[in-house]
Amino acid sequence: MNRQKNEQKQHQTVTKTIHIGKVPIGGGHPVVVQSMTNTDTRDVDATVAQIHKLEKAGCEIIRVAVPDKIAAQAISDIKKAISIPLIADIHFDHRLAILAMENGADAIRINPGNIGSDEKLAKVVATAKDKRAVIRIGVNAGSLEKDLRKKYGGPTPEALVESALRNIDKIAGMGHEELKISIKSSDVLDTISAYRMLSARCSFPLHLGVTEAGGLIPGTVKSSIAIGMLLMEGIGDTFRVSLTRDPVEEIQVAYEILRAVGLRNRGPEIISCPTCGRCEIDLFSIAEEVERRCREIERPLKLAVMGCVVNGPGEAREADIGLAGGKGVGILFRKGKTVKKVKEEYLLDAFWKEVEAFVNEERKEGNNR
Ligand code: SF4
Repeated sequence: MNRQKNEQKQHQTVTKTIHIGKVPIGGGHPVVVQSMTNTDTRDVDATVAQIHKLEKAGCEIIRVAVPDKIAAQAISDIKKAISIPLIADIHFDHRLAILAMENGADAIRINPGNIGSDEKLAKVVATAKDKRAVIRIGVNAGSLEKDLRKKYGGPTPEALVESALRNIDKIAGMGHEELKISIKSSDVLDTISAYRMLSARCSFPLHLGVTEAGGLIPGTVKSSIAIGMLLMEGIGDTFRVSLTRDPVEEIQVAYEILRAVGLRNRGPEIISCPTCGRCEIDLFSIAEEVERRCREIERPLKLAVMGCVVNGPGEAREADIGLAGGKGVGILFRKGKTVKKVKEEYLLDAFWKEVEAFVNEERKEGNNR
């Protein structure tokens, strides 16, 4: 599938459109990328600094944990310093949900299994209506309602879906329909099956994710399979890749998933070979550094970093900027044309100079159009 086709591909399952701050979710709008801070929300400076980094990486909505009153009040200062919408993540205490919205949270995420009685929920819903805040109903396998656990013998996909539907009815019945729903399990197959069932029975936007997915490798694999498969079926309006890592890496993985399934293209795509016995340059270091530098680039771009002349020139010629290694040297390509041969020690810098020149020229051309 070529890039243009990717960008034009439409999201299939049309859900109701809601807005978190200015960001539209559902209704066929582009799938939205989210993350969650891992700073202490009460530490406003640290939290704002992390949100700025995430924003730069492409995070479109941020969630922060609200464990107490001070954290809920800190939202007011955090909101003044950031430009993406903020979701307050609340457990156990409905008063924190209310306080978070009073302090400017654009949405709250509550877990119906632990927020308390219907009277408490009604107070939260009344504030959400008043403040025009979205409620994310976050059903989680780890905190499913007791009766459903008993009925289904555990947090099965059917139990998670029944919990979600029950709570949707409850909140919608209180007159609030600015809702999005997530049903999370740490099991990939259960996650897929639960979202498939829910999608067939609910028209509210769905937030996808595999909870407690693990570190970089297991978390990326689990999230890519579950989120990727659901997105390819047209299910899901927003998602978070959950990793036991710097959340900036969650955003990078999220955009790779979106690129792989042909839904969104952000930042450079790097084609690099795994190397083999034919490689005669230190390709790993070059590829790693190129990947690191690419985090600063927002526009779509195709780069190729290849080890030798077997597949190297072919891939490099297909890229906007490419390099193919030789014996202690590399050949640079730009839009299919050979630019020059460079000694290995100067290769990375020469390659990056070409990338920067290409991006700047394209920017100028764009401005002159
Ligand atoms: Fe090996 Fe060359 Fe293929 Fe890289 S491009 S994997 S070095 S044959």
